[in-house]
Amino acid sequence: MAQPLRLSAGQYQSIIDHARACSPEEACGVLAGAGGEVERVFLMENAEHSPTFYMMDSREQFEVFDAIERDGLELVAIFHSHPHSPPLPSAQDMELAFYPDALYLIVSLMGEEPEGRAFRIVEREVTEAGLEVIGDD
Ligand SMILES: [Zn+2]
Repeated sequence: MAQPLRLSAGQYQSIIDHARACSPEEACGVLAGAGGEVERVFLMENAEHSPTFYMMDSREQFEVFDAIERDGLELVAIFHSHPHSPPLPSAQDMELAFYPDALYLIVSLMGEEPEGRAFRIVEREVTEAGLEVIGDD
C-alpha cells in the first residue's frame, strides 16, 4: 500500500500560495525530508511558463538537488499545480515522471478551494497515495 504524503498546514499553505502566485501558469517545486517526512519545501520556477505544462529550470533543479544531498535529506515529492484542471496526472505528467521513489503532488486551483492529491507514478502507472495535512500545533 502506498504511503500517503504528509505535510504540515504551513507547508501545504506555502505550496498553495506559490501555485496562486504563478497562476495562470503552472507552479512547481520539490519537497525534501527524511524517512518520508517533509522537512523542506523548495518553491521553484516553471521554466516553461505555461498554463498546461511545467518543467523545472535545469540549473535551479541542480542547485536544489545538490542542497538536498548536502543536507543529508532525500527527495520526498515533486509538486506542481493545475490552474484550470483537476488534480490528476496529465499524459505528459506520466510521461515525464522520472522518480519512481518520489510522490507527485498536484494542486488544482480550478475549484473554489484548492485541491491537492498525491500519487506515485511508476512507468506511467499511477497509484493514488493520499495527502494528509496535519495541523501546525
Ligand atoms: Zn500536470
